[in-house]
Amino acid sequence: CGIVGYIGHRDAYPIIIKGLQRLEYRGYDSAGIALYDGNEINLSKTKGKVEDLNNKAKSTISLEGKLGIGHTRWATHGVPNDMNSHPHYSNSGDLVIIHNGIIENYDAIKKELTKRGYTFSSETDTEVLVNLIEEVKRKEGVKLGKAVQIALNEVVGAYAIAVFDKQKPDEIVVAKLGSPLAIGVGENEFFIASDASPFIEFTNNAIYLEDEEMAVIRLGKEIKLRKIKDDAIA
Ligand code: GLU
Repeated sequence: CGIVGYIGHRDAYPIIIKGLQRLEYRGYDSAGIALYDGNEINLSKTKGKVEDLNNKAKSTISLEGKLGIGHTRWATHGVPNDMNSHPHYSNSGDLVIIHNGIIENYDAIKKELTKRGYTFSSETDTEVLVNLIEEVKRKEGVKLGKAVQIALNEVVGAYAIAVFDKQKPDEIVVAKLGSPLAIGVGENEFFIASDASPFIEFTNNAIYLEDEEMAVIRLGKEIKLRKIKDDAIA
């Protein structure tokens, strides 16, 4: 399983597809991508290989966008199929997430969210997490980074995640516990990946997150790593 993301001035699509191919050695059953084209999120995902995703995306969605996230899935909750593949949207359609790992208490959270009117189109633990983040953001009136932090303090499990909000497309929020996550820092561009191989030709400045660390990756800002359990994050 693997994660690749990009935000900057280049086309995200080829970077993400090539990056996912370099992470194929990690094993996976499905692949997917979400791109922000300046207006909308365009998403494509499929059971199968990264090459299957490439063929599907090319023939079904716009490949434009300087912001995007891509994923290879190793199914833990829900069979390998197109719907259970990542990325996953939140109910509003504003947030989109990729996740490697397991949210162990997803069932209790899902029941709670269902009571509040949330619906789910997959069987994954991941779709529960993105809606928990959305609910925290709405209820607490906080920014995405803070919402991710609060939500992660409510979950039990392991994760490397990347999430962005189409209402605020100058940032990607990432967090890690258990699964690996690296940030490649370029000139006014950032790369995200499970290891540095997807971005080695672009930058040799890599930041490896420690367990229980997160970062708000924002264009024009320096990366500041935060502790998930620290409540100082703005
Ligand atoms: N638990 C998530 C799922 O089953 C993520 C699996 C993974 O690490 O790829 O969809």
